[in-house]
Amino acid sequence: MENLKKYYITTPIYYVNDQPHIGHAYTTIVADVLARFYREKIGTENVYFLTGTDEHGAKIAESAAKAGIDPQKFTDMVSQKFQVTWQNLDIAYDQFIRTTDIQHQKIVQDILLKLKEAKTPQGQDVIYQAEYQGLYCVGCEKFILESELVEGLCPDHHKKPEQLAEQNWFFRLQDYLEIIAQKIKSEELKIYPDSRKNEVLGLLEKQNLPDFSISRSKKSVPWGIDLPWDETQKAYVWVDALSNYITALDYPDGEKFQKFWPADCQLMALDILKFHALYWPAILLALDLPLPKQLNIHGFFTINGQKMSKTLGNVIDPNELVKIYGAESTKYLILSQFSFGAESDIKVEDFPAKYNADLVNGLGNLVNRVTNMIEQYLGGEINLKAELETEFLQDLEIDLQSLKFRDALLKIWDLIQEANIFVDQNKPWLLSKSEKKEDQEKLKIVLEKLFSKLYNIAQALKPFMPEKSQEILAILSADKIQKPSEPLFKRLEN
Ligand SMILES: [Zn+2]
Repeated sequence: MENLKKYYITTPIYYVNDQPHIGHAYTTIVADVLARFYREKIGTENVYFLTGTDEHGAKIAESAAKAGIDPQKFTDMVSQKFQVTWQNLDIAYDQFIRTTDIQHQKIVQDILLKLKEAKTPQGQDVIYQAEYQGLYCVGCEKFILESELVEGLCPDHHKKPEQLAEQNWFFRLQDYLEIIAQKIKSEELKIYPDSRKNEVLGLLEKQNLPDFSISRSKKSVPWGIDLPWDETQKAYVWVDALSNYITALDYPDGEKFQKFWPADCQLMALDILKFHALYWPAILLALDLPLPKQLNIHGFFTINGQKMSKTLGNVIDPNELVKIYGAESTKYLILSQFSFGAESDIKVEDFPAKYNADLVNGLGNLVNRVTNMIEQYLGGEINLKAELETEFLQDLEIDLQSLKFRDALLKIWDLIQEANIFVDQNKPWLLSKSEKKEDQEKLKIVLEKLFSKLYNIAQALKPFMPEKSQEILAILSADKIQKPSEPLFKRLEN
């Protein structure tokens, strides 16, 4: 690994207008695996893993009103659901940020003021006032996006929205596009995978990307951070939400900020790529800050080949999966199903068979067999240090550094299968019955090899299954090795 001294990894902050689903879970699981991997490599104190919730906006105010509670209570509830979900999935983040945190709101106002003072490389004001033109639904009392209309009508009011204009504050994105394109091309800002990088470069080549608004009138967005210099306005989503990655570190003077910025890995689904690859770098450049090192983009999820949607009723609650399979197995089942960055189809109906094959009969059975034989045939004693399969472990590191989680898991499961076959071929139970000295010696060698293999498998599993890995390592490092009293993975009933 190149001289990595610290590692800062982020998920997006999830919008609380939605319940935690498998898409959120995937991004967060990936971040958890990487954070655990780097903690092992460079020390816990040198890794910072941030996740959280995005809690402002007209939609939240609306949902809260529908639920008959005030927006703060509403966001408290939904944000709590995300935190509980991550707890159930055993996600070890360092911080959970909420955009309603007082500290965040205060720093966002400082950032807005700094941007207001800043000049673009061309010497123009970064922030300027202009007219925002949009479609406005009188029923909703808010601007509505073209994409939200159903056959040209507001889906809630079945009315045609009207063109309306209001005075907003804008960020002069135009002046930063060339620099951003350069930095992406030179890989100072890496975007992975390449297809997404090309998508962003394609956008940049179009040359007609508009500036973006950083405020809305209080009338159209009542729930948000006050714009410090204009009391008719609230901060609009971008500066508020994107800034969380630095407000969490106590920008500008916090120790965490000095130590961890720029981010090493920012994870997201492709729907927010544009904002992270264009708006976010522009804001950072205007603040005279270094850009994140890498944006990592994964695809959308389909469920059994269908788009995930509330109307189809196929949205998967990760908490339900944890109830069936447990946290670590759920993470395994999700990460092993497709590669990061590819279009991702979740086939939940395959999970039971895969759970039984890979975890109960694969890993669980191997642990049982090997420890049982060492206990029975060698009195639980192995007098050697496990031989490290360095090439194998290094290969896995490379896979993890390049986000090839599925490949890494396939390699680990190849080793598990190999070990199970090795047992079947060498039949230690026959060797143990033989009186011949060479058979006794072979028995010992076979079991030592299996001991080493199991040790390497447990090492490799650390970032993916920290608890199971610990359990296996504890068994192997005992004075007398004993078969675990309970199987590592419970067989599913039915
Ligand atoms: Zn409406």
